[in-house]
Amino acid sequence: MKKPNIVILGAGYGGIMTAVKLQKSLGVNEANIKLVNKHSYHYQTTWLHENAAGTLHHDRTRIQIKDVIDTSKIDFIQDTVLSIQPDEKKVTLENTTLDYDYLVIGLGFEAETFGIPGLKEHAYGISNINSSRLIRQHIEYNFAKYNNIKDPGEELLNIVVGGAGFTGIEFVGELANRVPELCKEYDIPREKVRIINVEAAPTALPGFDPALVEYAMNSLESRGVEFKIGAMIKEVTPKGLVYEKDEERVEIPSNTVVWAAGVRGNSIVEESGFEAMRGRVKVREDMRTPDYDDVFVVGDCALIINEETDRPYPPTAQMAIQQADTVAHNVKVLARGEKELEPFEPNIQGTVASLGHDDAIGVVFNGKKLFGWSASVMKKVIDNRYLLKLGGIGLLLKKGKFNIFH
Ligand code: FAD
Ligand code: NAD
Repeated sequence: MKKPNIVILGAGYGGIMTAVKLQKSLGVNEANIKLVNKHSYHYQTTWLHENAAGTLHHDRTRIQIKDVIDTSKIDFIQDTVLSIQPDEKKVTLENTTLDYDYLVIGLGFEAETFGIPGLKEHAYGISNINSSRLIRQHIEYNFAKYNNIKDPGEELLNIVVGGAGFTGIEFVGELANRVPELCKEYDIPREKVRIINVEAAPTALPGFDPALVEYAMNSLESRGVEFKIGAMIKEVTPKGLVYEKDEERVEIPSNTVVWAAGVRGNSIVEESGFEAMRGRVKVREDMRTPDYDDVFVVGDCALIINEETDRPYPPTAQMAIQQADTVAHNVKVLARGEKELEPFEPNIQGTVASLGHDDAIGVVFNGKKLFGWSASVMKKVIDNRYLLKLGGIGLLLKKGKFNIFH
């Protein structure tokens, strides 16, 4: 029997965990497995807000793919996916074309801009290592500039974050810790700097436990974060951000507008003809697309409805990692010519969001609420558990977070 070609697109949580599982479960004689990713490294998207604020170096966040995959079993191709042709079972990369028998799409998320004017041109986004490093550098450049010009304007030191969802809140939490350090380094009085978080909904973290939201806002406000709640962002200009609240238009002058107000699946998915809602394919219970028996979707490009709430599950790393188990199992079954595919059953173990290095909020699996230091330790435990799962004790020791006081 011909060895099937398995191609995995993207080495985010979903793609790399699928690859790591398959390298354990399929022998070299059973399949040819290729993993395609834009960069030579995998990154922990869940730490990018720290890289963007400058509280964690990006080398802690990225992991060389060849350090976690077995290259005698998996062929890693560093290239950019341009399009997928599911009817021809082909993938077009920037430098070559690949044929597949089974495809796993794990191309992740991109910012959802909702057509807001000026966003693409003038706002920054926490999407990957490069964009996060740029934010860190840009903030630092504006601080450095401040004492080098006559009559510096407030736009240099106003940092505006769009959206108070989990990404926005986690980012302002890091900024609240980082800004005093930057003020010291660049001889700037702390009160000159504003960190402003703008949210359209009537509350920060809409839908999350109100007591935890109140705790988060109090913690962040006490460290100098300003909230504009019920404020709909309308435009981003070269001079700053415009929002509307109570029918009034307000402009905040700023050189640094960071958009953290929503994500969608990678647009390559819908551009390749898959039926998708905001780049996310409503997958079957075995994680295959509705129309192709040989194409699986994992992570933020997959849409799954929570039957209890009748709403989609939020796209999270937790979901991507769990889905990878099912996808790897089902790809293995098909590659062996077997038929019994297993359904994906999410097992949401809670949500924990950081508010800086030593503060956090969360709800864990038994419904227990966590605040402050204990939540912060829990977040580190979750992150360390992932590193252990991905690369064993060696990776955990190299990249893990062990200082429970920082
Ligand atoms: P991604 O992690 O987005 O990875 C996609 C991969 O595909 C990347 O390696 C990318 O380089 C590659 N790629 C993209 N396009 C191409 C292309 N054209 N060609 C080749 N390669 C390509 N979730 C949680 O559960 N807990 C958290 O604490 C948490 N914190 C977060 C904090 C932040 C700041 C952000 C932004 C998100 C957070 N999330 C969290 C959400 C979580 O990070 C995502 O749900 C998760 O990253 C999705 O994983 P994925 O495998 O689908 O894709
Ligand atoms: P999100 O969609 O969860 O939150 C976006 C926020 O922006 C919402 O509160 C929304 O009301 C607001 N918004 C949208 N348009 C706006 C506008 N025009 N003006 C002002 N506000 C506007 O997006 P996210 O925070 O980027 O999170 C993306 C996914 O990643 C989610 O599934 C989230 O659960 C997950 N995530 C999880 C964690 C964690 O578990 N610690 C951390 C970060 C992200």
